[in-house]
Amino acid sequence: MPGKSATKKSASAVNQEAGDSEYMEQALELAAAAELAGEVPIGALVINERGDVIGRGYNRTRMDADPTAHAEMVALREAAWRIANPRLTGCTLYVTIEPCVMCAGALIQARIARLVYGAPDPKAGALHSVPSLAAHPALNHEYTVTAGVRAEACSARLSEFFRDCRARQASATEPAANENEQKE
Ligand SMILES: [Zn+2]
Repeated sequence: MPGKSATKKSASAVNQEAGDSEYMEQALELAAAAELAGEVPIGALVINERGDVIGRGYNRTRMDADPTAHAEMVALREAAWRIANPRLTGCTLYVTIEPCVMCAGALIQARIARLVYGAPDPKAGALHSVPSLAAHPALNHEYTVTAGVRAEACSARLSEFFRDCRARQASATEPAANENEQKE
């Protein structure tokens, strides 16, 4: 709430940090569910102003054969459906990995208030890793961004997944597995 004293404000900042870590833990559980389903392990959830989780998602591009079925999109769809409103005003989205351009744009369409993500995605991230979409001067909505919540846990899940994928590929196609050290 605005207009509180400085001490009150820092206490709420501490509460927000603890809350962020807890919600990110739930997003990590969704990432684990994605991996069990054979998908790239990324999880996301949407909470409303009261802190209720109103949308959950994990990456399901393979099972749905849908290039837009990123964790964030799935969570946004569920949240918007639940409140029967395409505008998620006042809501916060948590996601384990920095959103791509599509998802960063969808957050604008959803009028999300705040984005919290875990680990950066240096290849495809659209907030800090490539020019930011969260506060582009040409766009009609801005959201605040908090990065680095449970960053190590978030990036470890993804790194391990890709390491396992490479190991499986290497053992499946022995002769072809040469210099092809892939990205994380
Ligand atoms: Zn995305």
